[in-house]
Amino acid sequence: MSSILVVAEHRNQTLADVSYQVLSKGRQLADQAQMELLAAVAGVDIDAYAKELTRWADRVIIVNNDQLEEPLAEPYQKLIAHLIREIRPGIVLMGHSSFAMDLVPSLSVELGIPLVTDCVDIFWQNGDILVTRSIYNGKANASYSFAQSETILITGRVGEFPVEEGQRQGWIEEIEFAFEEECDYKKFEGYLEVEAAGVDITQAEVLVSVGRGIKEKKNLEIVEELARVLGGVVSCSRPVVDYGWLPSERQVGLSGKTVQPKLYLGLGISGAFQHVVGMKGARMTVAINKDAKAPIFSVANYGIVDDVLKVVPALVNKISELKGRTE
Ligand SMILES: Cc1cc2nc3c(=O)[nH]c(=O)nc-3n(C[C@H](O)[C@H](O)[C@H](O)COP(=O)(O)OP(=O)(O)OC[C@H]3O[C@@H](n4cnc5c(N)ncnc54)[C@H](O)[C@@H]3O)c2cc1C
Repeated sequence: MSSILVVAEHRNQTLADVSYQVLSKGRQLADQAQMELLAAVAGVDIDAYAKELTRWADRVIIVNNDQLEEPLAEPYQKLIAHLIREIRPGIVLMGHSSFAMDLVPSLSVELGIPLVTDCVDIFWQNGDILVTRSIYNGKANASYSFAQSETILITGRVGEFPVEEGQRQGWIEEIEFAFEEECDYKKFEGYLEVEAAGVDITQAEVLVSVGRGIKEKKNLEIVEELARVLGGVVSCSRPVVDYGWLPSERQVGLSGKTVQPKLYLGLGISGAFQHVVGMKGARMTVAINKDAKAPIFSVANYGIVDDVLKVVPALVNKISELKGRTE
């Protein structure tokens, strides 16, 4: 294998978090096998992204083209197919974003190359690349090897690969790419932003997460108070969304968001695998549950076996008191 190519995504003037995550993984794999790491970024006014990517990649390929300004799979498929034919990378790596989900299956079919999506690990074994996927709703993991192919396609699950600081100083190569015909059968209409009052739980350093164990909506008040004194935000398990106590963008888990806060407090959450799969990247987890056998305790660093409605007010008082002493 000659090189690894990471296709970077950007939205609203920022590189996607998942692109940093797969870049870090790509850097690691390239170093282990002494391969060149390439990154590709396309669109309009992309010089700043390219410069940023040089911190990880040995070479950054930029393609300025207004048909690639928005994340539309069809024109990108043409570009990436062209890059693969020209560069012949051993591995093409992307984040498992909705854009990639739209793009990679047809790219794989067009080029006749193997694809494994939504991988939670990617590693070398005896000179071959292997990937791990989470299967049966997260109950088991499976490893996959690839059929013999000059190039393989992999997408990495969002939030699975920690971002490591880029230490490189790669170089930038601009290439010309012209579309033979316009891909006009799908049109980008615009981004739908999270409401102004909305909270992005994936960016929070402290998450106070509530489950069915808080019993009723009005008990959220004390949880909000705990989040406030800790400088965090409130997230939740799925039943809390199903009851309409919190909006769906606060849900952590398989059908919610993957989070990696510094501190995750799980209050009255049992720790079903569909929940844990979204928060197991937290640096420190503290669980409060009245059932000592609740599965959440097996992923928690610290646990309190007690009634959450008793513990939370006590925590708020203690933290406020300690903060008062230092202010
Ligand atoms: C396809 C699929 C996708 C799913 N996706 C998600 C997802 O993204 N996120 C998610 O969270 N779930 C998801 N689920 C649901 C998941 O299986 C669980 O049902 C859910 O996580 C349970 O939420 P919970 O822990 O809040 O509730 P429960 O499992 O009911 O647990 C409540 C906990 O609170 C404790 N408790 C009760 N009262 C108190 C008290 N007073 N003090 C302290 N502790 C107390 C109980 O001991 C219990 O452990 C999904 C399920 C399916 C099938």
